[in-house]
Amino acid sequence: MNTYHAAEERYQKMQYRRCGRSGIKLPLLSLGLWHNFGNTTSFENSRQLLRTAFSNGITHFDLANNYGPPFGSAEENFGKIFKQDFRPYRDELLISTKAGWDMWPGPYGNFGSRKYLIASLDQSLQRMGLDYVDIFYHHRPDPETPLEETMGALDQIVRQGKALYVGVSQYSAGETAKAAKILKSLNTPFLIHQPRYNMLDRWVEDGLMDTLEKEGLGSIVFSPLEQGILTSKYLNGVPADSRAAIKGGYLDKDRLTPQLLEQIQQLNSIAKDRNQSLAQMAIAWLLKDKRVTSVLVGASKVTQLEDNIAALNNLEFSEGELERIEEVLTKQ
Ligand code: NDP
Repeated sequence: MNTYHAAEERYQKMQYRRCGRSGIKLPLLSLGLWHNFGNTTSFENSRQLLRTAFSNGITHFDLANNYGPPFGSAEENFGKIFKQDFRPYRDELLISTKAGWDMWPGPYGNFGSRKYLIASLDQSLQRMGLDYVDIFYHHRPDPETPLEETMGALDQIVRQGKALYVGVSQYSAGETAKAAKILKSLNTPFLIHQPRYNMLDRWVEDGLMDTLEKEGLGSIVFSPLEQGILTSKYLNGVPADSRAAIKGGYLDKDRLTPQLLEQIQQLNSIAKDRNQSLAQMAIAWLLKDKRVTSVLVGASKVTQLEDNIAALNNLEFSEGELERIEEVLTKQ
């Protein structure tokens, strides 16, 4: 095994944004391990993705208990790579994990009970070989468990020293405000919200971002490329090695309707006029809102990650470009 030495100039290559009103700064791009880190993909490729990310100043890696497949395997593989390559850099890294979706059988392996969250994080730490994570998230709202119980579990986790900060994912604006109130009363360091946000899914613009600003929370937005749709990859069919080609996967190729592809084609032309790839423009478009602390990308290849990082070379939009984009996005 060759030894990894992170690029010396990594912090000159990245820009960092403050996360809400906290002491933490996040890189404009973070790397998510939902896909491409389980046991069905190449371990060496996963390792190169993490090395490339960190050597470009991406200090934040985002995991969850159930990333794989199978569940848990992304954390296990990350743990192996961490041990081989990243242990000397632990204090330069922000590592997050989550619990909230289906993880193990029975009533205690899902949703938002204290029982589930605390046991799940213990398992995650073991799989990753870490003493603590930097951020622990409740992965989705639980309509049945009292919010006080779920937030109480996040508070306990911090007091146990198993997480430095906490976050929530997929919570509505109202749920986020309620969570913030409870966590404030407990003095728990509530850092961040992780919502889905991209050019084709703009629900956060309808109140969530205002709530985050008011509460002093940061945001890290997931599926910024709509799982690959907001790139040029599907313009000429479905490549065999793409996410939409995975049977029973999370991206149904039936979503690629002629109307959607026409929209993507038009966005691609605007990106070309900006001398950017569509992926780069989709990332830059999200970062124009300073309340977006970080864009959480996925990548199956090192070249994709490099393409996405190069989005930082052109983050500015003219009024005319924004109008052209808006016209395409609001067209029915
Ligand atoms: P993206 O929208 O960034 O999609 C990533 C996929 O897009 C890649 O796997 C690749 O697909 C394709 N891609 C990426 N870059 C390029 C490029 N430059 N050119 C062409 N294709 C490209 O994000 P994800 O949906 O993967 O989500 C990112 C992260 O967000 C996850 O890893 C996870 O950490 C987090 N997340 C959180 C959720 C939550 O509930 N909190 C839910 C979902 C994600 P291909 O495989 O086809 O090559």
